[in-house]
Amino acid sequence: MKILVINTGSSSIKYELFDMAGPKVMASGMAEKIGEEESLIIHKRILSNGESTERREAVVIADHHEGMSRIVALLVDTEYGAVRDKNEIVAVGHRVVHGGEAFHSTTIIDEEVIAAIKKNIPLAPLHNPPNLVGIEVARSVFPNALQVAVFDTAFHQTIPKRAFLYAIPFELYEKERVRRYGFHGTSHAYVAARAAEYLCSPLGELNLITIHLGNGASMAAIKNGKCVDTTMGMTPLAGLVMGTRSGDVDPALPFFLADHLGMTPRETDALLNKESGLKGICGTNDMREVIEKMDAGDDRAKIALDLYAYRIKKYIGAYFAALEILDAVVFTAGIGENSPYIRELCSRGLDRLGIEIDLERNKLTGSGISEISSPDSQVKILVIPTNEELKIAQETKKAIANFLK
Ligand code: AMP
Repeated sequence: MKILVINTGSSSIKYELFDMAGPKVMASGMAEKIGEEESLIIHKRILSNGESTERREAVVIADHHEGMSRIVALLVDTEYGAVRDKNEIVAVGHRVVHGGEAFHSTTIIDEEVIAAIKKNIPLAPLHNPPNLVGIEVARSVFPNALQVAVFDTAFHQTIPKRAFLYAIPFELYEKERVRRYGFHGTSHAYVAARAAEYLCSPLGELNLITIHLGNGASMAAIKNGKCVDTTMGMTPLAGLVMGTRSGDVDPALPFFLADHLGMTPRETDALLNKESGLKGICGTNDMREVIEKMDAGDDRAKIALDLYAYRIKKYIGAYFAALEILDAVVFTAGIGENSPYIRELCSRGLDRLGIEIDLERNKLTGSGISEISSPDSQVKILVIPTNEELKIAQETKKAIANFLK
């Protein structure tokens, strides 16, 4: 069974083609700068022996439809392609950022689902519109394939009211659905399932704190396999310090900026989403560069890293209290998987909570799952590479099996 996973942004389409027997990736790539003067497609065909061939095309791609048509041409190309006919692809799994309260799980896309995703546009104005374009385009390019939506928010729909409601007039929740939703759900769900496999324990019996540290960053508290709290909120701005996002700030900050600096809501939005976080403190949003700057003696970089790790450590404490019992802390995504320094900084001093990092093991992580807690640690600390595309493909496969039952 061949499943194509796509993640459509405002000017990009990322894709990965899976053969679900395995499962293994057959091809992957990305069309970017769609609608700009010169677009770029990077396409990789992955051979069964693990070797790959890459094709780069600098072309003009006017819109997402043209981008998807070009991707299909590459997928069936005699030299770089992975399938002979596009009809071999039985389903397309779409990453959809905001499912609101309507979706608790992966869903086969029909007109009603499209209407519900549209209804959530005010909650995710930057993400849901391009996701809808991706669905529309995939429907016309793959008319025989099932289209499936996998929502970033779905995994967090088990969060109880005490954790998802804001203490503001209740009507805002009832009428406008203002509440915490949470994001990165596919990643949190994936690493939680992998942790259960690694620990040889049913997920339903595990209490975990999962820490996704990529360009965006979030944490989830998982009780008996179900998410009970998460750091992102109604939008992906809340919670941890991120590359360019502030994370938690005093909610009155925008009023101060408006009254004293005359900043408009749009300017404040840009400031908190694009000019804050690591970048706001030390001028750089890429974690590798921030660490390099700190190593070169840059004070601001050191402050940015301290702030970054302190926020995570604080939430580990908060989520331990929320869960009451904790089996494992899981680090994942670009920074979580690759930075021993950050992992050490946010795990240090938690021995009294039973969380003891082994500094040597922390430096020796490989490509698979690594256990970096000391042998005596009551709580395991794991590094688990995330794979959101694979999770979307697995969810898509499950959804079609249920649909065809
Ligand atoms: P992601 O969004 O998951 O691709 O993660 C991107 C982030 O991971 C960027 O801030 C990168 O600088 C960071 N990253 C990748 N490799 C490393 C590394 N070896 N050490 C520290 N940060 C890294």
